Amino acid sequence: MSVVLDASGEPPKSPCSDPIGPQLRTPQAVAAYCSDLALLPHEVLIALVIDSSHHLRVRVHIDGHRHGVAARPCELLRPVLVSGCSALIVVHNHPSGSPRPSATDIAYTQRLADACRLLGVALVDHVIVASTGWTSFVQLGWLPANHRSGDRVQW
Ligand SMILES: [Zn+2]
Repeated sequence: MSVVLDASGEPPKSPCSDPIGPQLRTPQAVAAYCSDLALLPHEVLIALVIDSSHHLRVRVHIDGHRHGVAARPCELLRPVLVSGCSALIVVHNHPSGSPRPSATDIAYTQRLADACRLLGVALVDHVIVASTGWTSFVQLGWLPANHRSGDRVQW
């Protein structure tokens, strides 16, 4: 493997080197950042690629329809690998108004977590936003948390 240096002798910056959004350390912060999705009439899935200090580096938007959104795990993992980052937060909305995860959401998250594990990518959380609130798979105990204090989760 070779590394290309620019005129300053520094390696070129990867897409992971410039933040494009806020620092996302909690499910609350992600739900607030993506709150606009809650009012959409169709489902949308967002992949948020974050760096080791939890700054947002890449945001991928996948449109679905009224009752679902289809995204293969590789569509979410490719931007993580290309960016040089190694952590992913997944967000989707429920136009129905209820943030409760469906059986499909649970099965999909498990499949995505398996794919992430194989590739050494941290699936930090899966957050569902809706007009009546939001849920976090970490807060529900369905994905591992780095730090938990009572009801409060911090990644
Ligand atoms: Zn869902």
